Amino acid sequence: MSYDSWGRNYQSTHLIHPIFWKNNIIYPSGPETLLPYGMGRSYGDVCQNPEEWLLPTRGLNRFIHFDREQGVLACEAGVSFDEILSLIVPKGYFLPVTPGTKFVTVGGAIANDIHGKNHHQKGTFGCYVTQFELLRSDGQLLLCSPDENAHLFKATIGGLGLTGLITWAEFKLQKIKGPLIDCETIPFRGLHSFFNLSEESKDYEYTVAWIDSLSLDLHGVFFRGNHAQEKQSLQISKKNLAIPFNFPSWVLNKHLVRCFNTSYSWIHSRRKKHLVSYEPFFYPLDRILNWNKIYGKKGFFQYQCLIPKKDAFNILSEILKLIAKSGLASFLSVLKEFGNISSPGLMSFPREGTTLAMDFSNYDQKTLDLFNELDQIVSSVHGRVYPAKDAHMSSVSFQNFFPEWKEFINFVDPRFSSGFWRRVTGGGL
Ligand SMILES: Cc1cc2nc3c(=O)[nH]c(=O)nc-3n(C[C@H](O)[C@H](O)[C@H](O)COP(=O)(O)OP(=O)(O)OC[C@H]3O[C@@H](n4cnc5c(N)ncnc54)[C@H](O)[C@@H]3O)c2cc1C
Repeated sequence: MSYDSWGRNYQSTHLIHPIFWKNNIIYPSGPETLLPYGMGRSYGDVCQNPEEWLLPTRGLNRFIHFDREQGVLACEAGVSFDEILSLIVPKGYFLPVTPGTKFVTVGGAIANDIHGKNHHQKGTFGCYVTQFELLRSDGQLLLCSPDENAHLFKATIGGLGLTGLITWAEFKLQKIKGPLIDCETIPFRGLHSFFNLSEESKDYEYTVAWIDSLSLDLHGVFFRGNHAQEKQSLQISKKNLAIPFNFPSWVLNKHLVRCFNTSYSWIHSRRKKHLVSYEPFFYPLDRILNWNKIYGKKGFFQYQCLIPKKDAFNILSEILKLIAKSGLASFLSVLKEFGNISSPGLMSFPREGTTLAMDFSNYDQKTLDLFNELDQIVSSVHGRVYPAKDAHMSSVSFQNFFPEWKEFINFVDPRFSSGFWRRVTGGGL
C-alpha cells in the first residue's frame, strides 16, 4: 500500500496507523505528530507527514443515514465520492460540489474545502456541510456545526487536516432528474474570449475551459453544462485503463504534449451540443488509473493559483506568457472563473476571481524557479496558490496568500502536523 501524494514529487517514509472504527479510535502514543490521510489525491505535501504518523481513513467507510426527503447524507469520513455517487445517483441525487476526480474521501473534501465546475453558482463543498465530528488528540470528541463549536467548524473546513480527525460528516445533496449532463463545447481563441464566454455562461451550472499552455496565441475549449432533464442513462464503458509502471522520463516531452494538445483542439474544433453521462463530464481522467505515473519516477507538480477579479485579465496574460515561454508546462491546463459565494472555511482557497491550474513535469530547480517567479506575481495582486496542489510555496508566500493563518493557528491541534505545515511555518509558528 502506498501513501504517496498524487504528484509523487514528495516521496517520504511514514509511520502508518490505519483508522477503522469511529467509535474506538486510539491515537498512537509517542512524540511524533499525526496527520489524517484520505485517498492521497492532493498533489503535494498537505497529505504527507514525513517520518511521522499518517492516519489512513479509508477504513471509516460506513454510511450513517440518508434522508431521501430532505436530500441529506451522513457518512464516515473515509467514504469516497465514488461510493456516494453509486448510492445517490440512482435515487435522483448528486453531490452539491465535486472536484475533477471522484476518488476523494469526504474528510479530504472538507479539509481542502474542494471546489468544482459550479463554483460560480454553488460555492465550495464546505457550504453544504451541516455538521461533523472531530476527534482531537487529547481524546475530546466534538460535534461541530455552524451553531456548535462554530469556530472549530470554520477552521476545519479548509483546515488541511490540522485541527483533528473528522470521523463522520453530514452534508446536503442536490436533486437531479437523471445521470446525464447537457453539455456544450465551444472552441475559443484569446483570453478575452474566455472571459466573454464565462460572462455569457453564468446561467449554466457548470463551466470550465481547457487551454493549450504551450501556445503563445492562447486557444482552448470552453465547456458548459447543466444536469439534463432526461431520466434515462447512456451506455458507457466501465472499463478502465491502467498505467502499470512509471514511464521513463524522456517519454513525456514537449513534442508529445504539443501533439496531444493539437489533437485535443482538433477533436473539439467545432462548437457542439451533446448529452453525456456525468462520469466523462466530471471525471475524464479517472478512467486512466494511475495516470500520474506517466510523469515517471520524479513525479510532477501542479500549480493552481487564484487571481482576484479586478486583475484577472492582465495578470493571467502575464502568467500565461511566462509559462508558454518557459516551455515547461504540460497538458491539462484549466481556467475557471470563481463566483462570489463565500465559503464557511477560514482558510478556504476559493475567492471571487479566476483560477488557473497547470501540470508541470518535475525538472527540479528549473520548475521551482518558475513557480517562485509566479508566486511573486500572484502575491503582488493579493492572489493565492491552492495548498491541495502545492509542493513548493515558501513560508513568506503562504503568509501573504493566507493572512487568515494568524487566526487559524489558534485551532491547530498541538499534535497534528504535515510536511506542508512545517514547510510554510518554518517548523512552527
Ligand atoms: C485528477 C484530480 C482532479 C482534481 N480536481 C480538483 C478540483 O477540481 N477541485 C479541487 O478543489 N480539488 C481538486 N483536486 C484535489 C483533490 O480534490 C483534493 O486534494 C482532495 O482533498 C483529495 O481528497 P483525499 O481524500 O484524497 O485527501 P488527501 O489528499 O489524502 O488529504 C487531503 C487533506 O485532507 C486531510 N484529511 C483527509 N481525511 C481527513 C479526515 N478524516 N479528517 C481531517 N482531515 C482529513 C489530510 O490530512 C490532508 O490535509 C483534484 C485532484 C486530482 C488528482
